[in-house]
Amino acid sequence: MPNKHGCLSRSRCVLLVFTCAVLLSATFALAFSGSRNKSKIEQLRARVEAQSLAQGRTPASLASSIPSGIPAELATEWLDPSIANVILVMVDGVRWQEVFRGIDPDLGAALNAEETAPFFEWLKGKALTQGFLWGNLDRGDDVRVANPSWKSLPAYQSIFAGATQPCISNSCGRVPVTTLQERLVDANGAEFTHDEVVTIASWEKIALAVEHEEGKSFVNTGIKDLADGGSDEELAAINREQAKDAPPWSDARFDRYTFRHALRYLKKHEPRFMFISFDDADELGHLNKYSEYIKSLRFYDQAMRTLVETVDGMKEYGESTTILLTTDHGRGLKGEWIGHGSGIAGSDRVWIYGRNNLTRTKPELIKGGPGRPINHLDIRPTVEALFGLKPQGPGKVISELIAKQK
Ligand SMILES: [Zn+2]
Repeated sequence: MPNKHGCLSRSRCVLLVFTCAVLLSATFALAFSGSRNKSKIEQLRARVEAQSLAQGRTPASLASSIPSGIPAELATEWLDPSIANVILVMVDGVRWQEVFRGIDPDLGAALNAEETAPFFEWLKGKALTQGFLWGNLDRGDDVRVANPSWKSLPAYQSIFAGATQPCISNSCGRVPVTTLQERLVDANGAEFTHDEVVTIASWEKIALAVEHEEGKSFVNTGIKDLADGGSDEELAAINREQAKDAPPWSDARFDRYTFRHALRYLKKHEPRFMFISFDDADELGHLNKYSEYIKSLRFYDQAMRTLVETVDGMKEYGESTTILLTTDHGRGLKGEWIGHGSGIAGSDRVWIYGRNNLTRTKPELIKGGPGRPINHLDIRPTVEALFGLKPQGPGKVISELIAKQK
């Protein structure tokens, strides 16, 4: 007689469970990571097929299917969502003025030639031939935050929630709703693993914006050691060095360590969605150190260049990766540049760079602005659409990254 668990005897039951576990783990390893002869893209497609079969859907229709809710003009041709990856980089508190105009003549008047040397040369040079850079007020671009306080945590929360949140200060606690990152781990058609949905951030409080319940995705913020199961000397060195070299501001590590962690993680794990969050620029702005602020922008330009070149060198992974770069808020004008917030005029203006294999074939993007208002709430639906998920919230999909024809 089977016992209440359905096994014929205890020893047979143990053997059966053990055999199943071995078979299952072997199948899993083959399908998801261990198939040495399969390309990454073949592995990803096989995984999507397995997932859709398990859910009773037809796998053949999946790669080309357009999720309902996608604007009709996009429903012609489509980047294959089953192999897509997205890397979102955010730099905290970087004004559109420095991005598009360069050194501020008032704030930079006392700087020497070395301090005022050009910056964002890569972003406004090579990068611009491969994507779009929007937010230039001098051209009439309208790119804004989507929170009433024009501060950091409210901005990050609204971006990942896909809707403006009740949060109006950096002390508001954890985002109260399911985030983009959480949906990517849970949603039918995505179901990425914990280690494939990644946040690596300089500012500790970013953790409060990327998950409404801690632990679903990979999150490393502030000066905490990064632990991804790796025991390599590179990881140990970064953890060791960041602990000995804390910045003068609180709750953060220097961006140079965040970037080293992110680059190593990217190469080692090939994440599907990665959020890299930098912080130095905002801290230096609040400290009224204009020269140091400019230096941090120079670092961001070089970091983005390294990131893009690294991704491009990752063959199939690179070909299917979208890279976005933006900021959480602007800053005030002239003497008010050290601050930002709803009382500081102009600090709601932001900018965004986007680039993937599709935008590289659209040279017309170099010239113009978006031609419509863009705000932070457009980021989540764009990422969702890139992964073939039905976009949620009031934001609009940035179609330049997705549709082959405009
Ligand atoms: Zn700030």
